Amino acid sequence: MPYLELRNLTQQFGSQKALDGLNLSIEKGELVSLLGPSGCGKTTTIRLIAGFLEPTAGTVWIDGRDVTPLPPERRRVGIVFQSYALFPHLNVFDNVGFGLRAAKVPRRQIESRVHRALELVNLPNEANRAVFELSGGEQQRVAIARAVVIEPQILLLDEPLSNLDASLRQRTRQQLRELITSLQTTTVFVTHDQEEAFALSDRIALLSKGRCQQFGTARDLYDHPANEFVARFIGRANVFTLPFAAVGGDCLCLAWPSGRELRLRKPADSARFHIQAGQSCKLLLRPEKIGFEERAGTIRLFSARLLSYRFAGAWSEWEAEGEGVRLWIAHSGASPTSDGPLAVGMTKDLWVRVEDFQVLDV
Ligand code: ATP
Repeated sequence: MPYLELRNLTQQFGSQKALDGLNLSIEKGELVSLLGPSGCGKTTTIRLIAGFLEPTAGTVWIDGRDVTPLPPERRRVGIVFQSYALFPHLNVFDNVGFGLRAAKVPRRQIESRVHRALELVNLPNEANRAVFELSGGEQQRVAIARAVVIEPQILLLDEPLSNLDASLRQRTRQQLRELITSLQTTTVFVTHDQEEAFALSDRIALLSKGRCQQFGTARDLYDHPANEFVARFIGRANVFTLPFAAVGGDCLCLAWPSGRELRLRKPADSARFHIQAGQSCKLLLRPEKIGFEERAGTIRLFSARLLSYRFAGAWSEWEAEGEGVRLWIAHSGASPTSDGPLAVGMTKDLWVRVEDFQVLDV
C-alpha cells in the first residue's frame, strides 16, 4: 500500500488551474522529486500535502488515512522552505525545539530530541550559536533538524538547496541524500533542477501545467520519455517530425525533408499509435546515440555539416545539419575520429542504430 497518496488533486486559483487532477502514489521511505518548470504546480502540491491549502477537488492520503480535512498541525508533516524561515532572534537550539515547545513536550525530552536532531544533521556542537552566525549550508541543516525533530510522517522540502552556491549545493545534496536514507522518512522534494532531481530521487514526478507528465525513475524518464515534453525537459533531445512515406508491414517508412527514406522497425507498442498515410511521426534520437564512425549494427544516417561546437568536459556537443534537419551530437572528447580531429565547417557521415530512434507520438 502506498504511504502517501494524492488522488485527483486539483487546485483552482480564480480562473487558473494550478493543479489539474494529480495522482501520485509514494511508498514508505521513498524520496520523490517534483520536477518541472516555474509555475507548473510544485509548491502548490507541497502546500496541499502539508495542509496549508484546501484542494478544490481530490484528496491526500497518508498511511491509508484521508488527511484532507485535517489541519497542518495534525498531519505530522515536516517542511523545509527555500528561505529556511528560521527565527533570527532565537539560537540554534530554540529554533530546532520550537515545534516541540509548541506541542508542550516536557523540557527534558525536548533537550534530548533537539540534540539528537542536531547530531543527525552533523551540527552537534552548535546548539548555542545564533542562527545569523551560521553559513547558508549550516542554516539549511538547522532547518532540516527543525523539520525532522517532530518525527514527521512525511518530510517536504521546497527547493531547500537553491540559496547555496554551486559547490556547497553539491556537497549538501549528498549529505541530504545520506540523511534521508538514514531517517527512512518518506520525502517529497521540490526542484526545477533536473541534475538535482537525478542525484537525489528514487523516483521523479515531472509536472507541466498542473499535470503529471511522467512518474518514474530518472532512467525511465531519460530512456523512455512518455512524450515530447518529457524528452525535451530531461537532457538534450533531437526530435524529428517526419511524414510517413508508406504504411503497412513491419516497418515505419518515413521521409526526411530531402525526400530520402528512413525505415524503422515498428515499435512493439505501435498499436497505441494510429499510423496512417498522410500523417507525421515524432521521433526522438538522443545526441549520444549518434556517432561519427561506423560501428557494428549502425546504419549511415546521412552526411551533415558541423555548424557549431561546445566543449562540455568529458563530452563535446556538436550542432550539425543534413537532409534538411538540424541535430545535436554528443561526442566523447577523448576519442577523435579515425580521420583526424573534428572541426566546424566539416561534412561528416553520421551513424546510428535504428533501434535508438524512439517513436514519441504519431
Ligand atoms: P516555481 O518553480 O516558480 O516556484 P511552482 O511549480 O512551484 O513554480 P506554484 O507556485 O505551485 O508553481 O504555482 C502554480 C501556478 O499557480 C502558478 O501559475 C502560480 O502563479 C499560481 N498560484 C500559486 N499560488 C497562487 C495563489 N495563492 N493565488 C493565485 N495563483 C497562485
